Amino acid sequence: MKCPNCQSAEVGRIGEQEYYCWSCFLEMAYIDGQLHVREIEEDGSLSSLDDLFFDGR
Ligand SMILES: [Zn+2]
Repeated sequence: MKCPNCQSAEVGRIGEQEYYCWSCFLEMAYIDGQLHVREIEEDGSLSSLDDLFFDGR
């Protein structure tokens, strides 16, 4: 798969349904068949970037 943010193929699998882009450091997860994009903040928390990638959800 490719990263939806930077189109890089440097995406590694980090969990059952979770992927991580080593190029732009985004985390992606498939939840209920939908791809969600999250960013790991400096303090370790996750913030959703779905609004940036998926309009109308
Ligand atoms: Zn990326």
